Amino acid sequence: MKIGLIDCDSYHFPNLPLMKLSAYYKAKGNNVEFAKKDGEYEVLFVSKIFTETKEPEPPKAGIIFRGGSGYDLENTLPDQIEHIYPDYSLYPQFTKDTAYGFLTRGCPRKNHRFCITPKKDGCISRKAADLAEFWHGQRKILLLDQNLLACKERMELLEQLVASGAEVEFNGGMDVRFLNEETIAVLRKIRVKDYHFAWDDPRELLEEKFRFFKESGLKTKNQCRVYVLTNYWSSMEEDLYRIYTLREMGYMPFVMIYDKQKFVDRNGRWLPDAAKRYSKRELQAFKVCQHMQRWCGQIQILTKCPRFEEYEPYRRWVEKGKPVPGDIRNNNR
Ligand code: SF4
Repeated sequence: MKIGLIDCDSYHFPNLPLMKLSAYYKAKGNNVEFAKKDGEYEVLFVSKIFTETKEPEPPKAGIIFRGGSGYDLENTLPDQIEHIYPDYSLYPQFTKDTAYGFLTRGCPRKNHRFCITPKKDGCISRKAADLAEFWHGQRKILLLDQNLLACKERMELLEQLVASGAEVEFNGGMDVRFLNEETIAVLRKIRVKDYHFAWDDPRELLEEKFRFFKESGLKTKNQCRVYVLTNYWSSMEEDLYRIYTLREMGYMPFVMIYDKQKFVDRNGRWLPDAAKRYSKRELQAFKVCQHMQRWCGQIQILTKCPRFEEYEPYRRWVEKGKPVPGDIRNNNR
């Protein structure tokens, strides 16, 4: 059987479900390839992660299966495909000596309504696989888990990572709430590429946990990043509180702006219809976050100007009366 694969939007990352489908159908003696526009296939698998991605025109195919969070949050692979060793040869540019996979699925943070994980993978973090399922001795392991530390089998899974001796990247970051003496002790034995965390909810008092990690002496090659969600449920004061607190402890806060793509284009310019969709107060709140993101985004700027109120572009915008589209016809960048 000739099988075609279409990867709609995994531009900088290999598409794990397609690698698993490929492994499964190749093992059954089928001919599997990325679909060519002028090809003809008996079966076509189309995978899409983001809803806004436009699906390309499919080539001729007997039957088409569509999957991925870009279509809906219910579709899953059958167990015999989900748990197969992925066909890494599909993406040689991303998989050189690197294994990809999930040890756990799901996340218990139900109140994070901005995230699809609890809806898609469940409100608890549960063990999904042993490391050997997708790792066969590669030097690097890239984990796609959303909240490995929240899983009750975390110690068993972390010990598997210790035993691998590989460099491990926790792509989904770590939930600082689950750090304790026991988890820190096992992390010490893992070659972790980078530690990064998030402090999304200003009502969560996480200072002690961040201090605990800092004092553990665990090192990160680069600045240890902490993602700070803004423009969702917090005031500017609450955003700055998290940013300043993290900075004082030596972390690198990284401002994430909720729904940024609905306000501005890729270059940070207002979208033409932003003023129609949002009130002046919402546009101004967004603009503050955008200034905060630029101020925080570079260590040189942050070091030179540690107080946001003194950040020159923000100060000038405030002095001009906080202009946003809809109230003054000018260039509000
Ligand atoms: S902690 Fe991360 S994975 Fe879990 S719900 Fe929040 S954003 Fe999603």
